[in-house]
Amino acid sequence: MPNSVPLLAIRDLRVDLHIERDVLHALRGVTLNVGRGDLMAVVGESGSGKTMTGLSVMRLLPASAQITDGQILFDGTDLTRLQESSIRPLRGKRIAMIFQNAQAALNPLVRVGDQIADVYTRHAGLSRQAARQKAVEAMQATGIPNASERARGYPHEFSGGMAQRAMIALALASSPELLIADEPTSGLDVTIQGQVITLIRDVVRRLNTTLVVISHDIGLVSTICNRIAVMYAGVVMENGTTARITSRPANPYTAALLRCVDTRPTERMPFIPGRVIDLRQKWPGCPFAPRCALAQQICHDQAPLPVEVEPGHVSLCHFAHQVFEQDGSASYDAAAVRN
Ligand code: SF4
Repeated sequence: MPNSVPLLAIRDLRVDLHIERDVLHALRGVTLNVGRGDLMAVVGESGSGKTMTGLSVMRLLPASAQITDGQILFDGTDLTRLQESSIRPLRGKRIAMIFQNAQAALNPLVRVGDQIADVYTRHAGLSRQAARQKAVEAMQATGIPNASERARGYPHEFSGGMAQRAMIALALASSPELLIADEPTSGLDVTIQGQVITLIRDVVRRLNTTLVVISHDIGLVSTICNRIAVMYAGVVMENGTTARITSRPANPYTAALLRCVDTRPTERMPFIPGRVIDLRQKWPGCPFAPRCALAQQICHDQAPLPVEVEPGHVSLCHFAHQVFEQDGSASYDAAAVRN
């Protein structure tokens, strides 16, 4: 019988960031299910809480951040309750992460092949020689040419794209059940971005790994992911299948993000006008209200509840059904988005 319990279930997760004398409410009740085998994209503008969510799952939050409420259930275990000594065997083994800047994330003093071989030694108990051979094979599998030679190189000798491939080989060496990739293509040129994102899709499929890819680029990740969660100001505004979210969004924020992607190269890149809420405040209404062309008084006064507009497609919006019925954005003012 198939296991219907999600591999990762985040429930009402709240994280505060302490910066000097200010407290920023960075995550304000993130709720998200990631099923086994899902390829999930978490998208949104910078500051939406995407990376903070990924770091919370890894329990790698900076010292200034604190989980104040909620649960992170991984295979039924609440990671927020585990001591560091209990989380360490999970991290890197059952849950792995690809970081934004691979060159900075790799140890500059250790040969790349040895860093990958370490994972095989630690998690699979291989001998040093066998682990080195596996590291070369893993590098080859991610498309690194002359892998046996490159394995002896140091991170600074790798280009951005090659370092990201090495990072992917490193993250997958332990055959994790869950891989979190945080902006895995940032800093890479457009051609390499496509290659890296396709590589991630191919390797996670081959290894049957569940993927959460964090990105500001809904267009790029929608090419490989079967589900999308759209985040804004520390909450998940909408989630559902990629096909439905991109063709028929039920949230004005998603519609606005998609419009930014849809712009023809000859047109001026649109942006979403208006001010982002002050994360220091406990906002009473919808966090997108100050920027939303559809906002009514209720949006400023009351936080919307999740609305399931169709099976598996949920939007956090007082007018989710209307937005959905109007094909996501029929009454959304495109001119307002561009001005
Ligand atoms: S609840 Fe109101 S402000 Fe928020 S997205 Fe929906 S229409 Fe816009």
